[in-house]
Amino acid sequence: MRRSLIMGNWKMNGSREEGQKLAQALADGLGNVEQEVAVCVPFVYLSDIRTVLASSPIALGAQNVADQASGAYTGEVSAAMLADIGCKYALVGHSERRSYYGDTNESVAKRFAQALSKGVVPVLCVGETLEEREQDKTFQVVDEQLDAVIAEAGIESFEKAVIAYEPVWAIGTGKVATDEQAQEVHQYIRKRIADRNPAIAEKVQILYGGSVKPDNAKGLFAMPDIDGGLVGGASLDAKGFLQICHSV
Ligand code: PGA
Repeated sequence: MRRSLIMGNWKMNGSREEGQKLAQALADGLGNVEQEVAVCVPFVYLSDIRTVLASSPIALGAQNVADQASGAYTGEVSAAMLADIGCKYALVGHSERRSYYGDTNESVAKRFAQALSKGVVPVLCVGETLEEREQDKTFQVVDEQLDAVIAEAGIESFEKAVIAYEPVWAIGTGKVATDEQAQEVHQYIRKRIADRNPAIAEKVQILYGGSVKPDNAKGLFAMPDIDGGLVGGASLDAKGFLQICHSV
């Protein structure tokens, strides 16, 4: 059985104090749960939030990681640095990184490999745009995004990684994929992994992301190949996020 994982993605929101308050409210309100919960916070607040979450089971994640190990890469944050400050997860290839900051399938694959090499669990984000979906290219796009990582890091790397399917048209738009639309792609992704390694396909957590809210989480999380969620906007509200965490 796969353990569910609910991951908040705060994106570039909030102040230090707001982040601390939010993390404290999550730590206080989560209670004893079987599922895993994590929050991906802005780099500069990782240490502060780690302190707040120190005695809570909520794990810490970053929203990105450099595609190089160390050196003259001004403005970048390495996987070793993330590991150093107690970061368990790092998102790689979030669609906002791909569309606004030029992340390519190749650079995402390198980020993924960097995270793995330092024991940080990469959360590989994949998903199609609306235009790609309308052109029936969803599976092709997801294949290309996955295959670049498999080519760089090997299929075995998914033993220690998470995949997040986030249709771009559903991110921040309030337009959530239907349970069935999401399940269809999740099943496809798992099959694609299973074609290479069935044991890993059974184990790998595949999260859904894109307008997950307290009122749609239950239906999504009940689908057989959806192992939790990557939650953006709704993760900024403690009450709503906790409700989502308790929807598995
Ligand atoms: P959203 O964002 O929940 O606000 O749609 C999800 C994400 O980008 O990870």
